[in-house]
Amino acid sequence: MTLTRYAYPATVAEAVALLGEDGSMAIAGGTAASNLPRLKSASLLVDVTRCGLDFIRPESDRLVIGAGVRVADLTVNKLGSSAEAAYLAQCASGISSTQIRNAITLGGNLAYGAAWSDLTIALLALDATVEIAGADGTKQVAIKDFCADAKKAIGKGLITSVSVALKPGIRAQYARFKITDTEIALMAMGVVLSIKDGVIADASVTIGGLCPKPVIAQKVIAALKGKPATEAVFAEAAALAPEDVTIAPNFRMDIPTRARILAVTLRRALVAAGEAK
Ligand SMILES: Cc1cc2nc3c(=O)[nH]c(=O)nc-3n(C[C@H](O)[C@H](O)[C@H](O)COP(=O)(O)OP(=O)(O)OC[C@H]3O[C@@H](n4cnc5c(N)ncnc54)[C@H](O)[C@@H]3O)c2cc1C
Repeated sequence: MTLTRYAYPATVAEAVALLGEDGSMAIAGGTAASNLPRLKSASLLVDVTRCGLDFIRPESDRLVIGAGVRVADLTVNKLGSSAEAAYLAQCASGISSTQIRNAITLGGNLAYGAAWSDLTIALLALDATVEIAGADGTKQVAIKDFCADAKKAIGKGLITSVSVALKPGIRAQYARFKITDTEIALMAMGVVLSIKDGVIADASVTIGGLCPKPVIAQKVIAALKGKPATEAVFAEAAALAPEDVTIAPNFRMDIPTRARILAVTLRRALVAAGEAK
């Protein structure tokens, strides 16, 4: 098929109607579109950057971020003063280069679903909810289910926003391991802890970059919950991280080396989260 049309819908409803047409494909920042085999068979590109999705709403109990928001706009100034906002800004500021951060959108990062999609890894640790608009209306999808099958969740629809419930007192850190500053991370992880009277009351840990989809580090989480928030506990839990993920081959570094780096990077992230105020 040959690309013959490029549309700029002005509303989500218009975008959804266009995406319902055969041969259509959504485009946002455009940073991944050329890698997608689907582009070769697309006859209509639906540019979703002008349909009112570039909003950020820091509310008292939740943070709602439009799918059209660029990574460069995920700064604490715009996201608000919560721990969740600081954590998302920390994640966003480490993505690639200024030029790329100016282009990538939240919706594109989620929909592309690369192993290195940092916002997806970070939002999974926050147990976010993804809003998707389709011909049948709007649905809310838990990010865990979205990550399991993003294509199915989106269907012929459009990601419109992501919301995060704000939990008072959480401590969060986003960590990644890179060899050079602007490259895609070899691994990345999201850590969200709730510590009460020195005890880890709740923990959420996600790992990405090492296998096709981000994982929830269940063994690490089990080793943290209910334990004192000490460096020894963090080290013991982090040592279990290589058991939580099936590390895929990568020409840049062998599997045992990445497993060791994972445990060290996660231990540091847990310690940093434990110390965060
Ligand atoms: C050099 C380089 C380095 C990068 N480094 C990193 C990195 O370190 N970390 C990181 O996280 N990312 C990184 N990225 C970005 C990442 O790989 C993707 O390119 C990016 O997340 C895609 O977002 P986009 O807005 O550009 O989407 P597009 O390229 O426009 O679209 C990507 C896919 O998402 C779909 N889509 C877009 N918006 C929506 C929507 N609202 N609803 C439904 N479907 C939608 C499109 O149809 C398409 O299938 C890098 C990219 C480049 C080029």
